[in-house]
Amino acid sequence: MQNTISHNLSDLKASSGKIVITTHHKPDGDAMGSSLGLYNYLASAGVDSKVITPTDYADFLWWLPSNENVIVYEGNEEQSNKDILDADYIFCLDFNALGRINKMGEVVDQSNAKIVLIDHHRDPQNFDNERYCSIGASSTCELIYHYITEFLDKKLLTKEVGECIYTGLITDTGSFKYGSTTSTTIRTAADIMDLGVVPAKIYEQLFDQNRLERLRLLGYYLSNKIEIIEDGKIALAHLTNEELKRYNVKTGDTEGFVNYGLAIKGVVMSALVIDREYLVKMSFRSKGDFPCNEFSAEFFGGGGHRNAAGGASKDTLENTLNKFKESIKSYSNLLE
Ligand code: 5GP
Ligand code: MN
Repeated sequence: MQNTISHNLSDLKASSGKIVITTHHKPDGDAMGSSLGLYNYLASAGVDSKVITPTDYADFLWWLPSNENVIVYEGNEEQSNKDILDADYIFCLDFNALGRINKMGEVVDQSNAKIVLIDHHRDPQNFDNERYCSIGASSTCELIYHYITEFLDKKLLTKEVGECIYTGLITDTGSFKYGSTTSTTIRTAADIMDLGVVPAKIYEQLFDQNRLERLRLLGYYLSNKIEIIEDGKIALAHLTNEELKRYNVKTGDTEGFVNYGLAIKGVVMSALVIDREYLVKMSFRSKGDFPCNEFSAEFFGGGGHRNAAGGASKDTLENTLNKFKESIKSYSNLLE
């Protein structure tokens, strides 16, 4: 645990209205859960803050309490830049490098605000003034809960804060399934249930609100798109831009697809490569010790966690797939 937090709730109260909370681009459940969890907590303490996300995010997260107050940076640059430059505190949640918040990173870098980093990714870069970071935490939401109970006031926690935090706990652990789940994760979930949170309701909101089109895309993907290579150890799938258009794919629709490759017996690493037109985006998942983050950093300028990482390529889809097939060979000794 890296902990250099030196503010308390009185400091945040004194900065009410001058607090910005942000998270990585294309925020996922942990990113939005931690951001809105902190936002709702501060609101319950009488502290005004703003959540500014670099980009939009999947609609299965729009039910989160206070989602209607989230500002998406793209399209609101002018006011957001002003808020960031005027801020006393900027909370950076669930990312470890300013590059992960796109253009916003340059503005955050110029701001005189105290930057508070709360994150569970490896090797955070030095862009913060105070941090509460642990790679042993299942999720940033788990850290937000402990940040609140340790440095702020536990009594001000509400059911709405709990719903946000519970969301990050289950989305980042695959519903308490991945190796990152610890007894602390489960204890945190139990404490959150005591706030009145109903897990079944959260699962339903997150996983049972699909558009039929998304499930049809999943059916197509499972039937046609998964290729098994390297003696059954690697599942490789890709989606072309034409396929994204054909199935009317929206932000978040392909979330979780990469995990199906890993559900195949014998597969150690699963990769999904998507042609997003402006960029070829890659997702990697693994079982056991295979280091997706190291592989991604070495060949695709990415990073993340050992068992879940991502990267990108500016090359064509075809060249990217070929590069993947070539580069994975140099990791074949780790494919046990
Ligand atoms: P996903 O495959 O769900 O997009 O990303 C899985 C994890 O990999 C994320 O939680 C994040 O930690 C990391 N990640 C994804 N894309 C990138 C990237 O382009 N760069 C870095 N450094 N990490 C990434
Ligand atoms: Mn996370």
